[in-house]
Amino acid sequence: MSLSRSAGIFMIALTLITSFSCRSREDAGSGMRTGKLKVVTSLFPVYDFARAVGGSNAEVTLLLPPGVEPHSFEPKPADMVKLNSADIFIYTNRYMEPWIGDIMKSVDGSRVLIVDASRGVDFLEMTDGDHTGEGGTEESVRTAEKNADPHIWLDFSNAQIMVETIRDAFIIKAPQNRESYRKNAEGYRKELDALDRKYRESLSRCRKKTMVDGGHYTFGYLARRYGLAYIAAYGFSPDAEPTARDLARISGILGREGLKHLFYEELLTPRVARTIARETGTSLLRLHGAHNVSREELRRGTTFPELMEKNLGQLMTGLQCR
Ligand SMILES: [Zn+2]
Repeated sequence: MSLSRSAGIFMIALTLITSFSCRSREDAGSGMRTGKLKVVTSLFPVYDFARAVGGSNAEVTLLLPPGVEPHSFEPKPADMVKLNSADIFIYTNRYMEPWIGDIMKSVDGSRVLIVDASRGVDFLEMTDGDHTGEGGTEESVRTAEKNADPHIWLDFSNAQIMVETIRDAFIIKAPQNRESYRKNAEGYRKELDALDRKYRESLSRCRKKTMVDGGHYTFGYLARRYGLAYIAAYGFSPDAEPTARDLARISGILGREGLKHLFYEELLTPRVARTIARETGTSLLRLHGAHNVSREELRRGTTFPELMEKNLGQLMTGLQCR
């Protein structure tokens, strides 16, 4: 989206917010009176974390419509109205949602608590071109500035920090529910911790240590945490197509490493992954990056840990684990 169009939308959004502001105040007030926090979240991971922490004391909604590719998403004027009537807005990080600066300018920060869920997490920084290189090296791990990998939730220790940040925000806005938020957060944190131990144990028994992904660069954090090499056809976002040279390089790695499977991503047609698989005689295995869920997954109440359990099964097949 061009800058001018973006600015245009925000001007419209501002106008809408001004005209809706009286009603918004009443909405937020009634939410607080019933003790149920009104929470708006940007992406599925923070949606699931907030839902778990809030329990019956929060009404959590997801801004991203189900099935929509999240990297190219930008809030619409109607979303801005929704944000302004919330008690809390939680976003993933400024690399995943680069539009957050504009949101900050248009939302009444004295009323809506805006929460950066990445506070205190360990970012993975990459330089251009690294996405088809091998991820997970110590040197690439730094506090992020430019070009940080936005997929922080795929490191389960980061996910635990995010849950704690969300818990603290809930307590600030509804201290009367303090005990419930603490208990829920601790239960969910333990679930993530158990998942982390299961991954570590399972992935230590694999014959292969290289993940090759025909989708965009999503699993750098996971690879780093469990000592795997990671190569992806696309960069951090799936908008720029890989070159013929990228594809040849990936095919070469699959052959050299003796891999029988190529991973592909949720929500996008795996056109590039299919081409590589056909040329290399490998089979495709779906990994869920959990950025967003489909309408059907949302209806079923799919959780983040459920998606990660399924991923572990796929990883164990692809990496030939015992
Ligand atoms: Zn992504």
